[in-house]
This record gives sequence, structure tokens and C-alpha cells, in this order.
Amino acid sequence: MKGQSITSSTIVIQALGIKPDGAIATEDGVCAMCGLHISIGDLCAPAEYSQSFTDELSLAVRGNPYFCGYCPSLTTSDAIRATGFGVFSKSGVKPFRKWQDIADALQDPPEPPFVMTYATANNQHMGWRAPVNESRDVFMVRVGLRDVLVRRHVLRRAVDACELLGNLPGVKPKVAKAARRTLPNPYTFISSDLKDAGHAKLNPGLFSDAARQAWTTAHTDALELLRALSLGETWALRFVLTPGAGGDK
Ligand SMILES: [Zn+2]
Repeated sequence: MKGQSITSSTIVIQALGIKPDGAIATEDGVCAMCGLHISIGDLCAPAEYSQSFTDELSLAVRGNPYFCGYCPSLTTSDAIRATGFGVFSKSGVKPFRKWQDIADALQDPPEPPFVMTYATANNQHMGWRAPVNESRDVFMVRVGLRDVLVRRHVLRRAVDACELLGNLPGVKPKVAKAARRTLPNPYTFISSDLKDAGHAKLNPGLFSDAARQAWTTAHTDALELLRALSLGETWALRFVLTPGAGGDK
């Protein structure tokens, strides 16, 4: 059995500057947690799980007898805290918790390979089971227990589509521009942690008479674009549409 040559664990550990740990492998194997290939001479450890470990479904190769030299270091409480929110790559760790930082990273990710994590609960294991990205244009973010997709060129166009539809009569908020934190958009609510069932629900004002009277083919195209967004792209709009936000929730 051949494992991966690179996994989120290797990227995250290197970005954090933590040294891999373990004993010298005397046979080839595959890490049970992240799926990294372990060659003779690499560091490894026997696969042992603490009583509180409940993430069996995320294991790359359940039942395998070894961990790589990276994964065990990501399950300490310090490491779990350090990996909850971040953009991990060869250039280190970039913050990914304040909305502005998230918006910046989503629009300008680091050179691949990189890993993006956004925890939605305390003590969530993020580092060893996040997707590894090989492209700055189409990438995945680990949001809580999900991996969500972001296509950068689609996200850019979605911001314009939001502005066009969000300024329609019947949709446009009555609050003065200066008092609004979020750019115009046609959603009633966008969730930052994807826990709310009302996430990315379209404003019913879009289908009002007032909106219909101002409707053009550009609006039809914009609505079509928004309806084709991935969950990751509607999630990303939460941050990209709120450029002045400094809060972390
Ligand atoms: Zn591993």
C-alpha cells in the first residue's frame, strides 16, 4: 500500500515550526490518521488513540498500526488551539479568524501547497484532516467538520452580482450606506460558521413587484451566478462582503 507524499499534517507542522517526532520506521507503512506514506527511516509512532478521540470517521486508513511523525503532534491541546484558525503554507501561518484576515486570504491565498482551517467548535481537530490545496484559483477550506470549495474567479464575480441585486428596489436596505457594515447583497443572512439553516437564503424582495420593474437581463445573469455558487463561496461572501469588519464572530 502506497500512502500520500504530502498531507495537511506535514504542511501544518512545518508552518508551525514544530519538529516531527517518533521512532525510526523499520518497515514501509501508511499513517492511519493522515494517509502519509511512511518509508523505512522516516519517523513514526504506534497508532494509539486517547479515550476522548471520537474522529474515527476522519481517519485516512482506519485500523493501520502506525501514525506518521507529524500527526501525533497535532493532537495535543496546544496544537489543537494553534490549528483552529489559520492559513498554513511554506511561508508559515497567516491569521484566519478576523473577518478582514479571512477576506484577504480567500482573495489572495499563499503559494501552494497550503491548508486553510476555520474551527466551529472548541477542541475541534483541524490540522491532520484538512484538505491540501495545490491551486490558488480553486481550493478547499476546512470549515468545522466540512470541506468547502472556493473558486476565486467565481467569488470575484459573485461580489458584483451581489451588489447589482442588493441595490434593487425592494432589496436595498433602508439603513444609510455609512451605517451598514456589509456591502449590498440579496441575502437575508450569511452564516460565518455554517451552523444556521437560514444560511444564504435569498431576500424575498428579489421577487417583489418593485424589483421586477427594475429587472434587466444583467439581473437574471447575476441571480443565475449566485444560485450556482458552492457552499464555500456563499460562506466566503460573509467575509468578502464585510470589508470593514474587525470582529471575529
Ligand atoms: Zn499522519
